[in-house]
Amino acid sequence: MLNGQYKKKLDDLLNACRKNLKTVNEDLITRAFKISLEAHKHDLRASGEPYFHHPFEVAMIVAKEIPLDDISVASALLHDVVEDTEFDLKDIREEFGDSVAEIVDGATKITDIFRSHEVTQAESYRKLLLSMVDDIRVMLIKFADRLHNMRTLEYLPADKQLRLAKETLEIYAPFAHRFGLAQIKWELEDLSFKFLHREEYDHIARQLKSRRREREHYLRKFLAPIEKRLKEEGLVYEVEGRPKHLFSIYNKMVKRNKPLDEIYDLFAVRFVLETKDNNDCFIVYGVISEIYKPLPERFKDYISLPKKNGYQSLHTTVVGPEGKLVEIQIRTRLMHEVAEKGVAAHWMYKENKSSLDKEFESWVNWVREIFEQRSEDAPSELMESFKLNLYQDEIYIFTPKGDLKILPRNSTPVDFAFEIHSNVGSHCIGAKVNGRIVPLNSLLRSGDQVEIITSKNQTPNHDWDKFVVTHKAKSHIRKWIKDELRKKAEQGKELWEKKLKREKVHLNDDDLVKFLHTTLKVENLQTFYLGLMDQKLDLDAIIEQVTVRAKHPAAEGGKESEEPRSMFRKFLNTAREITSGISILGSSDAFLHQYAKCCNPIPGDEIVGFVTIGEGIKIHRKDCKNVISMRMAESERLVDVGWPPVTGADFIAAVRVSGKDRPGMLSDVTHAISTYQNTNIRSVNIDSRGSMFEGQIILFVKNTEHLARVLEKIKRVEGILDVERFFG
Ligand code: MN
Repeated sequence: MLNGQYKKKLDDLLNACRKNLKTVNEDLITRAFKISLEAHKHDLRASGEPYFHHPFEVAMIVAKEIPLDDISVASALLHDVVEDTEFDLKDIREEFGDSVAEIVDGATKITDIFRSHEVTQAESYRKLLLSMVDDIRVMLIKFADRLHNMRTLEYLPADKQLRLAKETLEIYAPFAHRFGLAQIKWELEDLSFKFLHREEYDHIARQLKSRRREREHYLRKFLAPIEKRLKEEGLVYEVEGRPKHLFSIYNKMVKRNKPLDEIYDLFAVRFVLETKDNNDCFIVYGVISEIYKPLPERFKDYISLPKKNGYQSLHTTVVGPEGKLVEIQIRTRLMHEVAEKGVAAHWMYKENKSSLDKEFESWVNWVREIFEQRSEDAPSELMESFKLNLYQDEIYIFTPKGDLKILPRNSTPVDFAFEIHSNVGSHCIGAKVNGRIVPLNSLLRSGDQVEIITSKNQTPNHDWDKFVVTHKAKSHIRKWIKDELRKKAEQGKELWEKKLKREKVHLNDDDLVKFLHTTLKVENLQTFYLGLMDQKLDLDAIIEQVTVRAKHPAAEGGKESEEPRSMFRKFLNTAREITSGISILGSSDAFLHQYAKCCNPIPGDEIVGFVTIGEGIKIHRKDCKNVISMRMAESERLVDVGWPPVTGADFIAAVRVSGKDRPGMLSDVTHAISTYQNTNIRSVNIDSRGSMFEGQIILFVKNTEHLARVLEKIKRVEGILDVERFFG
């Protein structure tokens, strides 16, 4: 049961709701009232009064000064319950449903943000707020909350007063203006002004007070002839000797650098007409203009051309008695309601045009329609949901220093890191969000405070590209990956070229690319080089394949060290395959043997075997210089070996030729070979080097004498400088 004091409060609130709201769920408000009272029962405000007075007053402001609906009033009663008491959001949701719970949750989050950060970028803060609330009623409650806190600011310590006043002036007052809450905006400004510039505030307030009588007297004199005429016209109206707001007077004094006396429009009068006919406003204007001389340049018709936030009025300034200027506003009751309380406002200042303004504008128009239909029966579902859905594509993230960064939705700590600086992004290894370590691919939310942990050894990770969303992060990561690949490919190229050099293979890029396409099915050089580095491609195997078609390099000096070894190796293998191995004289048993690399014997050569340890018998040519030294030192290890007799088969021999290059040279050489006893050529490889050529010819011969004759024939071809058998 409520005691008398609280019963009266509840009645006051319900009465305010009944008076200002279209429909009132009295049970809802009563329950919210009781739960708030219960939840806050142990708490006191800075003023020493029970804490519950605060949510109650906030609810009163919502009901009386920005009336929207009963959900807002109930939420206002509960707005500090989650933040300050043992009740949690789940309790609210169970008791009052999703709408109230979400509004309370939104209001709580905003409280948290302001508790932990000092406002430095006002405009970003306003957007941050909008990005965090998706129900307009959250903002209305925050305005009411702030208004009541400002009204009771005197009880707080001085530093807190200054902080809250500054925040209010920079964030809430301009925000309220954009929402069209003119009355609240002025009060927030004047209260902030009072705490931020106490002396100036007191001075202006004193002056206005001391001249009040004088001013009232003057206004009566000014209004008398007008009121007489308006009564004759049968118009019903209310006239206000509109007090100028202290903060706007102060601003004018500062802006125009004039003392208070000279701010001429301190006399201001407003006529609010109880009529639905806008033309009545022009009648009033006509009446006044007949009595006092108007200043044409000060006439503004915001009725025919409303301001973008829906504001309508006629403005004029006339010369009153004693030559004093009087500012006049003329509007209907409906226009007055919209101007003072309408949530209909326009987001846009001229310097702030973003595509989202359009969205806001259409939303505002929709809200305005609801407000204007208030007298009629607007469908209740329209009142149900005041979805904001503004700036939902952006999130606002705090740096550890409290700066705000704007990022697209779904941004991650890596996006944030690159937003700060590309160096921070490139070296980030971890992130703390609101003090807790999180994975780098976590999604950030508006209001998060993010600290990036970097390490100079860290580099961008290929996986980052899969989850970052900002252009900045993507382009940096991709550029880095590209650079890395390029560097790696360069290393691969080096590896390849070293190998070519070692193998004495000459191969230009065009031929290499052709080879890659046709044989390896590798599309380009970079992929090839990377494949070598990743060992996806086998360098040795490729060299083997390539050398079959490789050209011989220029043979300056023409010594054996510059021969294409792989090709020669092939030749040796082929040559040796023709015979069926090696036999030890006097034995028909097969035995383990190897051909010595120093002299590369082929069938037909006179050979000798050298018994090695572990590698079987090494076969040398008899005239090999190593054999000669072996005969001196280890003659007991030499064994006589021979090629098995070959019936009808030719031996194979490799010949190197060089000479002056000329047209027809190749055909002359092959002609010389093939015409001598039908000698068969197995392959010819000619490499042209400027005016010289160099080639290898592999052919079949019956014996070494046959070969010697063929060499003689080749030697006689015009332009041939050198012919010799080669052994590798
Ligand atoms: Mn509060």
